[in-house]
Amino acid sequence: MIYADNAATTKMSDAAVAAMLPYLKEYYGNPSSLYMFGQKAKEAIEEARATVAACIGAEPREIIFTSGGSEADNQAIRSAAMRGKTAGKRHIISDTIEHHAVLHTLRQLEKEGFEVTYLPAHENGIVHVDELEAAIRDDTCLVTIMYANNEIGTIQPIREIAAICKSRSVMFHTDAVQAVGHTPLNVKDDGVDMLSASAHKFHGPKGVGFLYAKRGVRLFNLIEGGAQERGLRAGTENVAGIVAMAAALKEATDHLNDNAAKLTKLRDRLIAGLSGIPHAALNGDANQRLPGNVSFCFEGIEGESLLLLLDDKGVCASSGSACTSGSLDPSHVLLAIGRVHDVAHGSLRLTLGEDATEADVDYIIAAVKDVVEHLRGFSPVWRDLCAGKAKFIL
Ligand SMILES: *Cc1c(COP(=O)(O)O)cnc(C)c1O
Repeated sequence: MIYADNAATTKMSDAAVAAMLPYLKEYYGNPSSLYMFGQKAKEAIEEARATVAACIGAEPREIIFTSGGSEADNQAIRSAAMRGKTAGKRHIISDTIEHHAVLHTLRQLEKEGFEVTYLPAHENGIVHVDELEAAIRDDTCLVTIMYANNEIGTIQPIREIAAICKSRSVMFHTDAVQAVGHTPLNVKDDGVDMLSASAHKFHGPKGVGFLYAKRGVRLFNLIEGGAQERGLRAGTENVAGIVAMAAALKEATDHLNDNAAKLTKLRDRLIAGLSGIPHAALNGDANQRLPGNVSFCFEGIEGESLLLLLDDKGVCASSGSACTSGSLDPSHVLLAIGRVHDVAHGSLRLTLGEDATEADVDYIIAAVKDVVEHLRGFSPVWRDLCAGKAKFIL
């Protein structure tokens, strides 16, 4: 089997599994307990906090552990909205290709009286900085733009966006779930105020993540209860998960440049191979994209059938994000970058892992070519296109 769905989730690294085991089997005490046994777990959490902070250029006290990327996104956005509301500011700026963890939180805030401007991501999936600048108003309390997109892999101009927000005194949050551990990132150099990340996207366990909030940025908690995480996130800490996340992030960060260089080469080989299929197009920008991300649309086929036949050939892939697979609506991201419904339906996302090889890539190219040709063979849409009854778009 070739696993090419690393944007949906990744395999845990050996280092992460090894790091978490002692905290499941031996040091299972509650970190809030006063005896030594519990304190050992508490120390492990603080050590993990220092490691995670160092990996992104933050200070330990700027890291809040959460249950994952979705919770971090919710907490960051809701905190900024609460602060904004107090100051009479109810305007938020985001964009059309955000993850649902951001979009659905914003939709809820709209129902609660906030106004949201969604910037277009344009054909290449990248937000225009001048359009962001023009959208900022006196009552803007938050800009939230993702670091890198989970479907089409495009990387946004985060530094420029952060600089504009800073000059206009507007809070800036970025959903960096796809970027952390995959592309060089430093919260101080980038100038972001809040950043979300999730362990299972960088070879850590599922169900744990973190929110970076710059010193001085006030957070509100979503979950009421005990005083864990300085009162900002109640609930007994996921000690083993937190320790494993730190181990995974340390490993990913230590090897980031080598992994990115290797993956970029494989990605471009895969893109070149798939580009040989007629009436196919790459989604997103060819250069400003995540090292392992390949996203294509093929005219005249259904993405779902493509995935099932690829599965038969031992290739795990996705049509868009894991969250929209299973629903018949085409991806909001592909529609937002201008793909029409029929074309957006024929989508394929392949996200390579660090252990992928050239042979894997060549196998995937051959498999996709075969399957696309096969499906087009009995597609009425394809027949009409070839007969000139409908116009090719790609
Ligand atoms: C996966 C993902 C999330 C959600 O993270 P979870 O830890 O699964 O809640 C949010 N944003 C992006 C961009 C993602 O890829």
